[in-house]
Amino acid sequence: MWRRGNPANCATGALLNNHEHGIYKCAACDLEFFNSDAKFESGTGWTSYFRPIAPGKVTVAIDSSHGMQRDEAVCSRCGGHLGHVFGDGPPPTGLRYCMNSVAMKFEKAK
Ligand SMILES: [Zn+2]
Repeated sequence: MWRRGNPANCATGALLNNHEHGIYKCAACDLEFFNSDAKFESGTGWTSYFRPIAPGKVTVAIDSSHGMQRDEAVCSRCGGHLGHVFGDGPPPTGLRYCMNSVAMKFEKAK
């Protein structure tokens, strides 16, 4: 497994191995992004989901930085950068929302 140093200090991997049921939210404004049932193991070392919890929560914009064109995922409410969206995810969406754990926080299901 991908692990380096103390996991508690490892920001990008903080939610990667979280298998509890709950909701992933914006770390800045609390907007709900993903349900844990949409999380999957992509093998990339990044927290990955195949669909947002509801339409309109995650805004996808073109990011042409670093000399390549990618679909950037940002928070629909506060505009915070979350990660990128790729077209190699599992069914039913075929999408992979590749998220940075530091942009989100996890709220365990009650
Ligand atoms: Zn936000």
